[in-house]
This record gives sequence, structure tokens and C-alpha cells, in this order.
Amino acid sequence: MFFDTIDLPARRTATQTHARSARIRKAALRNAEVCVVGAGYAGLSSALHLAQAGYDTVVLEAKNIGAGASGRNGGQVMPGFAADPHALLAALGERHASALWALSTEAVAMTRALAGTVCDIDPRIAIVAADRAGHDEIERAVAVRRDVFGDRQIAWHDAASLARAVAIANQQGGAIDARAFALDPRKYVHALARRVRDAGAAIHEASPALRLARANGLWTVETPTGCVRAAHVVLAANVDNAGLAPDTGRLAAPVRTFMLETSPSPLVGQALTGVAAGYDTTASLHYFRRTADGRLQFGGGGWPGRMAPPLAGLYLRREMARVFPQLAHLPVARQWSGLVDVTTDGLPRFAREDGLIRLLGFCGHGIALATLAGQLVADAIDDQSDRLALLTRLDQKRNWPTAAGRTAQLAIQSFAPSMARFLKLASA
Ligand SMILES: Cc1cc2nc3c(=O)[nH]c(=O)nc-3n(C[C@H](O)[C@H](O)[C@H](O)COP(=O)(O)OP(=O)(O)OC[C@H]3O[C@@H](n4cnc5c(N)ncnc54)[C@H](O)[C@@H]3O)c2cc1C
Repeated sequence: MFFDTIDLPARRTATQTHARSARIRKAALRNAEVCVVGAGYAGLSSALHLAQAGYDTVVLEAKNIGAGASGRNGGQVMPGFAADPHALLAALGERHASALWALSTEAVAMTRALAGTVCDIDPRIAIVAADRAGHDEIERAVAVRRDVFGDRQIAWHDAASLARAVAIANQQGGAIDARAFALDPRKYVHALARRVRDAGAAIHEASPALRLARANGLWTVETPTGCVRAAHVVLAANVDNAGLAPDTGRLAAPVRTFMLETSPSPLVGQALTGVAAGYDTTASLHYFRRTADGRLQFGGGGWPGRMAPPLAGLYLRREMARVFPQLAHLPVARQWSGLVDVTTDGLPRFAREDGLIRLLGFCGHGIALATLAGQLVADAIDDQSDRLALLTRLDQKRNWPTAAGRTAQLAIQSFAPSMARFLKLASA
């Protein structure tokens, strides 16, 4: 069992058994109004809202639906951004920060509605303080959410009160977010894909976009077997886009994070009694979710770059045992990893120029934010609203420096603890 850099161990569910879509036909030139590149939440939600608005839309996916982060994430759907609420407030001021917060709560509601009844929705998420600094950070975040953003669905719990909801080692209290919920992320991405097809858009899997070219006001998107010509392109291919957009790494850095899933056990339900899922304030960012069939999914660690380090599996099992010692003996059924698109300020990156819209940098908050982004993209193309400008207006000049500088900065700032633990394991 090992963490590869691409494939997720197969366990297709009944809801994912739709027929695989064909590649784009050999030597075909397909005309469309919009070509969407990438079949994750961002691309599929864009395609769904565009198709519903009457646009002839084609989705190109390099591998298969949900092959990227959308098919391999922790399933936690919560309001907000990777930037703390107080950081948002300090950086943007009350009006802009509150408007962004409202967008993010709208994103959670939209995701719940689209996930419907098929995605194992489970309410309430805990944010767990791992130490005194985490305690203070969460208290500040709760205060800003309640007093400035008017969000009454988050509540502070001291250690004794939190322990009644989640049995986690060495916690110092935390918050429970009643608006947030967990879902099965793979069921969600496939549910979105079904909705896209039902709305009349085509999805072509195994159809990587190799090149984008613009002539006479139209884009041509080249794949190995054919081309799509369209007035608009939505580039929703995240950080691992096979060189399609060479400046991607400056906008969002790829950081590999790791997940495991235990065998089902009644102990999992006893560990998470009052919440469906949660995460803590350690720099390794442990996150966990109880699945509908009684397994624990546990994730954490951050490794700058595309390659997974050796011993990642051992590292993650040890981390799980530290956080949930009572579950340490459960057999691990599956392990995998995925890339998170991390920006310097924890806010997504959107750009619009000459009919090309790019969106990425959801930084571990993409289930809801990328879903909402799809609606904003469709509205922008349809000239219905410029709410996308709320996000494009952000100061996006603070991008990453060169690749080497980015790796060093990430390693020093945020991921030093998990890297140190990898190195300790390697030298043991
Ligand atoms: C392990 C892990 C845990 C996470 N946990 C959470 C969580 O609990 N909550 C949360 O909100 N977020 C979480 N995230 C983040 C979330 O999954 C992402 O923000 C979100 O899925 C991003 O969606 P996307 O559509 O932008 O990108 P992706 O899902 O990565 O989709 C991009 C797609 O584009 C395709 N593609 C790439 N290049 C090309 C090309 N040249 N041509 C055609 N197609 C191409 C890829 O194959 C991929 O399918 C997590 C991420 C990871 C990796």
C-alpha cells in the first residue's frame, strides 16, 4: 500500500456507475459557446450553470471525473476561506470582508442543495484547538464571525464541552459550526457530473487540453484527438494542469496532503458523537470525517510539490494514533493523497481576459467555494452579475515567487512540523 501521485484506489460506488464518456472524436473540430477545462467541482459547476443558462457547453477532462482534488478530499463543507476571519477583516476591511463571508455562506447553502440526498450529508463540524495558540486563534475567529459577520451558527466550546462531541486527544476546546456539514466528496462530484449531462452539456473524459490558441475572437482548445472552438474558455484545471498554463505555480502552489480510511467500526461513531467531521489547529492540519458506513477518514500533512515523500503512509498512521489513540488499532483499508492549491493569502485566484476565465487557489475550501465559483463564472459570461469581480478585485499581486522560493517559503512557514516528522521517520 503506498501513496502514488495520480491514482485513487478504485472503489466506485453505485452512484458513480454512469457510462464513461468518450474522448473527443478523432480529428473532430467541435464548435461550442463555452469550453470548460477540468471536471472537478469548479469546472462542473461552471458547466452546469452555463448549460442551465442555455449555453452550448463542452467539458474536457484529462483523466476522469473527480480525478483531481474533487474526488479525493476530506469532504468538509464549511463557510469561509483558508484565511482566518480576523485576517480577512484586517486585510480587506469590514464591508469587503463581510461581503466575502456572505458569499462563502451562500456557497455552503448551494452545495447542500446540489448535493441533494445522494451524497451522505452529515451535519456539524468541529474546529479543535490543539494548544493555547490554537485556543486563542479559534476564540478570535468565533468572535469575528459572530460579532462582525453576524454568523450565529458558530459557537465556542470549552474542552469539557467539546469532549462530549468529539473524543480527541489533548484538545484545548474549540468551536462547533452548525452551518458546516460533511459529505461524500466522490459522490458529490459524480452527482454534479450527472446534473451537467442532464442540463445538456457534454463531458469528454480522457481528453486533456494540450494548447489554447486565440484567433479572430475565438479560442481553439487542442486535445490529442480533436479540437474545440469556443468564444469562451473556463480554465478550471487546478494546479496539476500538465503545463497548459505555465504560470499556474505563481498563482497557487501545489501542496500534497495525505488521507487514510479505516475499516468500519462502532468505535468511530463513539469518537465522533456530536459532529460529523473536524480539523485541528496544528501546522500539519489533521482533518477527519466519519463515513456513512462507520469508517474514519483521517488526513493531514503538507508536502510542497507534486511528489509524495516515502513513508507518508507510516507518517499518517502515526498521526492518526496520536489524535485518536482509541482508534489506533483499526486496520487501514485505503490510503491516498492529493494536491491542494495553496495561495499566499488563503484566498482564491480568479482572472478574466479575452474570453478566458481562470479559477483556482481554493486552498482546502473548494467544495463549497468552487461550487459557488461555477455560478459566478456563468453569471459573468452571461453578463448577469459582476459578483466575480468581488473576488477578482482582491489584491492578487501577492503571488508566489519562483518555484524554489515558493517551496522554501512553504516549508518554513507552514509545513515545517510535518516535514520534520517525515525526516524523523526516515532517519529512524
Ligand atoms: C486530500 C485533500 C483534502 C481536501 N479536503 C477538503 C475539505 O475537506 N473541504 C474542502 O472544501 N476542500 C478540501 N480540499 C480541497 C478541494 O478538494 C479543492 O479545493 C477542490 O476540489 C478544487 O476543485 P477544482 O475543480 O478547482 O480542482 P480539481 O478537482 O483538481 O479538478 C481539476 C481537474 O482538471 C483536470 N485537468 C488538469 N489538467 C487538465 C488539462 N490540461 N485538460 C483537461 N483537464 C485537466 C484534472 O484531471 C482534474 O480532474 C481537499 C483537497 C485535498 C487534495
